[in-house]
Amino acid sequence: MGRPVQYNTKIKMVEIPEGYSGAGFHATSFDKVVGLARKNSLWPLPFATSCCGIEFMATMGSNYDLGRFGAERMGFTPRQCDMLLVAGTIAKKMGPILRQVYLQMAEPRWVIAIGACASSGGIFDSYPVLQGIDQVIPVDVYVPGCPPRPEGILDGILKLQDLVQNESLRRRNSDQYKALMDSYAIQ
Ligand code: SF4
Repeated sequence: MGRPVQYNTKIKMVEIPEGYSGAGFHATSFDKVVGLARKNSLWPLPFATSCCGIEFMATMGSNYDLGRFGAERMGFTPRQCDMLLVAGTIAKKMGPILRQVYLQMAEPRWVIAIGACASSGGIFDSYPVLQGIDQVIPVDVYVPGCPPRPEGILDGILKLQDLVQNESLRRRNSDQYKALMDSYAIQ
């Protein structure tokens, strides 16, 4: 005999953005609608080189289930992804490759440095290791730990979701953003 079908009764809807509600409608600003959609449909591109990548695999697994946050669709081509997750030690030789991957992503794009190695070189204070990926690409969120637990990675992704939701649509045309890109020699 088949098992009885079980329904998840704990489904929660996303919070409605600030606005004006009436019978059968909700009016809000365009910024907020776009922010809400982007926040809940991030497409991750894992750039995993060592141990932290294993923790990221656990984050994708059924126990922690990144899919709960609208980010289960892994992409392995930068052109389809908007959230670059760098997990692991990045050798200096890998720096230009990481940068090329970042450049191939379409705007808007965001970056999370997962773990001590990606954030600062970690324990590898040695000549072949890049002392933090922010030497070659801008980083939005740093996740501490060696390695961070999946809860830490999820927390980093939730922090990024906050940034994404509240980012102004004009930010990427601003002088401040252009100055940031100029500092990385990115057009
Ligand atoms: S931070 Fe620690 S666990 Fe992560 S890649 Fe570096 S050495 Fe490995």
